[in-house]
Amino acid sequence: MYSNKKDYYEVLGVPRNATQEEIKNAYRKLALQYHPDRNKSPDAEEKFKEISEAYAVLSDEEKRRQYDMFGHEGIGGRYTREDIFRGVDFDEIFRDLGFGFGGFDSIFDMFFGRREHTSERGYDLRYDLEISLEDAFKGVKTEIEVPRNEKCDICKGTGARPGTEPKTCPKCHGTGQIQYARTSGFTRFVQITTCDKCNGRKTVIENPCKECHGNGIVKHYRKIRIDVPAGVDTGYSLRLRGEGEASVEGAKPGDLYVIITVKPHKVLKRDGDDLFYDAQIGFTQAALGSEIEVPSINERVKLRIPPGTQSGTIFRLKGKGMPKIRGFGRGDELVRVTVKTPTNLTEKQRKLLLELAKELGEEIK
Ligand SMILES: [Zn+2]
Ligand SMILES: [Zn+2]
Repeated sequence: MYSNKKDYYEVLGVPRNATQEEIKNAYRKLALQYHPDRNKSPDAEEKFKEISEAYAVLSDEEKRRQYDMFGHEGIGGRYTREDIFRGVDFDEIFRDLGFGFGGFDSIFDMFFGRREHTSERGYDLRYDLEISLEDAFKGVKTEIEVPRNEKCDICKGTGARPGTEPKTCPKCHGTGQIQYARTSGFTRFVQITTCDKCNGRKTVIENPCKECHGNGIVKHYRKIRIDVPAGVDTGYSLRLRGEGEASVEGAKPGDLYVIITVKPHKVLKRDGDDLFYDAQIGFTQAALGSEIEVPSINERVKLRIPPGTQSGTIFRLKGKGMPKIRGFGRGDELVRVTVKTPTNLTEKQRKLLLELAKELGEEIK
């Protein structure tokens, strides 16, 4: 389903490690070239949609991370078309470039057709959760407290004092929208904005509800149970549908995104599903071979060091890494062995070493 889509970085012609500034500059350049206001060729609009989608994803650190990790599937599975374009600074960019289209609503309408503005969902919320590597290993079931706007219980979200009713808005006559026509060159734009008298609600309130002051919405601290799966890494986001902010009456609430950060571990380093540990061994252990014990994420593991092990050798402990969040099993733990050179030798140790040196034919000058 996503396989025919072009790589977002290729679409914008930037390297995978491009900075936000490089991404923005690349998009501005391409937008100048393909904006339908300027480019009337039939495939310009498709191209313009394509670069705008790439920019929407790559200009948002969180979406970019999802894309880097899981590709188009990661974006398609996590965000609606609307979410992809939400919060992007198109308005500012187009105004800068001297184009008439502005804002999320206009760009979205342009790409996907008009929507009923008053039925727009409530805002999505973001909650940052920091967890330990041990928790990331096991998974966490926990409760978070999220401040969010919810529908007022007293007026049931209408904003009108109980017993009274909202009236049809006199400014927009109950449409929630106001149209402005504007001519630019040969093109006539009809810009539709939300009515500023009723804020798109289509109604006005003469007797506001005391609880919510007529907003129909009140702020609550809501406890929400979340279930973080085993194997998560920094940047993982959990989407809880409908747990975001309430919207005006009748509309669906937004979603809540819980964004995970995994704190660094004291001794283990992580790269994807693999863990790394730096172990030090004595030089006799390295020469003679020995068994050492190394920490893994949830236990201590015995590691056999073969005779003649060189400093810097890396041993792989199969299946001792992090659980794979996509797929089965676990990654590995990689143990890098560094051989310690003994210091502060006693007279006896020195003698023994000199004797050993002679035996090995090493010259000590
Ligand atoms: Zn109320
Ligand atoms: Zn109105």
